[in-house]
Amino acid sequence: MIPPIVRTKAELRAQVANWKAAGETVGVVPTMGALHQGHLSLVRAAEEACDRVIVTIFVNPKQFNNPEDLENYPRTENEDAQKLSHHRVDMVYVPGPDEIYPAGFATNISISGLTEVLCGAHRPGHFDGVATVVTKLFTQTRADQAFFGEKDFQQLQVVTRLAVDLDLMTKVVGCPTIREEDGLAMSSRNLLLSDRARIKAPVLSETMEDMADGLRAGQTLAELKADAEKRILAAGFNKVEYLDLRACDDLSLLETPTRPARLLAAVWLAGVRLIDNIAV
Ligand code: AMP
Repeated sequence: MIPPIVRTKAELRAQVANWKAAGETVGVVPTMGALHQGHLSLVRAAEEACDRVIVTIFVNPKQFNNPEDLENYPRTENEDAQKLSHHRVDMVYVPGPDEIYPAGFATNISISGLTEVLCGAHRPGHFDGVATVVTKLFTQTRADQAFFGEKDFQQLQVVTRLAVDLDLMTKVVGCPTIREEDGLAMSSRNLLLSDRARIKAPVLSETMEDMADGLRAGQTLAELKADAEKRILAAGFNKVEYLDLRACDDLSLLETPTRPARLLAAVWLAGVRLIDNIAV
């Protein structure tokens, strides 16, 4: 059965109030739609942990630093609803932009430190947009738990920080990255890749895996990084925006994985920006 689609905050609030009055726990899975198995793994985690599950679909204009990117972002609401019909989802919340940002909206939530590196450094305003909408979605849904993918590792750290710092009642839960069979991390943006580009795309995760093996074997980061960038560009990618080894907790740069660390990358392939990260 296709879950009920709710488009207004008022309707959402009324439904959640009933659930809360009955003592039920609420889980939320925030998404921008164009759902794939990565999103659905978060839905499964929510189903297991919570009595009620809300999936939100909102292509958040505030987190796009490029108007063309916002316009081209895939929108597949009917297919998304179909996919969710195979899950125990109680509501799909699909607010329009005016419902989230009504006339006069003037608040911006900004997290320092964590957002100043990686995607934050390359996409000005992106994480303010994420933080602002996530805060609103948490308070609107009154969720007990919210499920986010490690695919967007920096976002997961930022949202975790935000929920703690603002004493939000929602606990942020991180879930592992789901990949295609050839290793490419699933992403709504993969839909934007041409067939030719799609064939090249797994070189990113292959290169990162080899880099991680090299680090574990004691090779230096500088040497591994130079080789990795060459390999990615030779495979036909246009640009390596960043390819860093960073500490999991505060995203500070590391030379060697002396504490829990992640390799994180953003690259451009045929006009599409892809990100990935793996544990080292
Ligand atoms: P998005 O619709 O791209 O904003 O993503 C919504 C949520 O799904 C975020 O928490 C993402 O981290 C998560 N997500 C996206 N792709 C994947 C994936 N391949 N594996 C796990 N989670 C994912």
